Amino acid sequence: MEANNALHALMKGPLPMLFFCIGDPVVGNPTEHMVEYAFKALDFPGRYLTCTVTKEELAPALWGLRALGFAGGNVTAPHKQTVLQYLDDLSESALLCKAVNCITRKSDGTYYGDNTDGKGFLQSLTERNLQVKNKKIVILGAGGAASAIAVELVLAKAAEVVLVNRTEERSRTLAKRLSGISSTVISVDRWVGTYTIPSDTEVVVQATSVGLFSPSACVDVAFGPRSNRENSSLIACDVVFNPVQTLFLKRAEEAGCTTVDGLGMLVNQGILGIHQWTGKDAQSEGMRSALEEAFYV
Ligand code: NDP
Repeated sequence: MEANNALHALMKGPLPMLFFCIGDPVVGNPTEHMVEYAFKALDFPGRYLTCTVTKEELAPALWGLRALGFAGGNVTAPHKQTVLQYLDDLSESALLCKAVNCITRKSDGTYYGDNTDGKGFLQSLTERNLQVKNKKIVILGAGGAASAIAVELVLAKAAEVVLVNRTEERSRTLAKRLSGISSTVISVDRWVGTYTIPSDTEVVVQATSVGLFSPSACVDVAFGPRSNRENSSLIACDVVFNPVQTLFLKRAEEAGCTTVDGLGMLVNQGILGIHQWTGKDAQSEGMRSALEEAFYV
């Protein structure tokens, strides 16, 4: 009886709003640590749950999340593309990327899909006063992260985006999809052997999965031939966030570049999602620390 009373007391008051992260595999995904930290810091009564959802279970899982009234959440591999068909409305970025990483339940109960990966990347640059408008940018990779970043660069009117991918067909398909959307010129470079970053490049984005969980792995690129002074105006970014200081970033730093790590992108896409869900502005510093702590758990 005493135990029942205690339980009843706990259940009084409004229930917390529920948010999800779905993917497969999601074991070790650190987003929950970052979002729950931010909810607490904002004094927001939300819970964020990480759930393994296989490809076969995606449709029933989404109907279940609707039925349970989840207020939103994140979608990760392998569902970022397939989830589109189950949503009621999509943002411009999601339509252009053909991928969703953030879902929000609107006040009318419908579910809205956005892609905040590329926006989070741009924000990680602007928070350091680094701009992409009118710049020449090389993107290494043509997968989900590269495509989300390329979309935002086109929308932000970068001068030129050069797509460089091991499988050239993928970069050609992406270039075709993004050409003509804005004034941004889209081109494709071949990646045979070591890729030398063209000397007039202003930003280079390492958007392949090389280096993830692997501090000794780096894509096959060379920063020369440029003087150290020329390299100091080159901004080198990595989407890989674990380890934070990748071998690509170490080499870029040695070559004299300004570097931007992938943790900033992860935190900023989180801040954008939390704003869509709660209307509140989360602070990046604590979220960054929460992630770094989670990496060492
Ligand atoms: P995808 O599987 O969609 O794409 C992987 C990309 O990496 C492809 O372009 C692939 O080339 C390339 N690649 C893989 N191995 C090699 C190699 N040995 N040499 C050259 N290129 C290679 O993955 P995502 O785009 O979804 O993810 C990429 C990375 O971005 C991951 O590490 C992920 O964790 C990170 N990420 C970070 C985010 C953040 O917020 N910081 C957000 C989202 C992702 P090919 O086409 O030839 O196979």
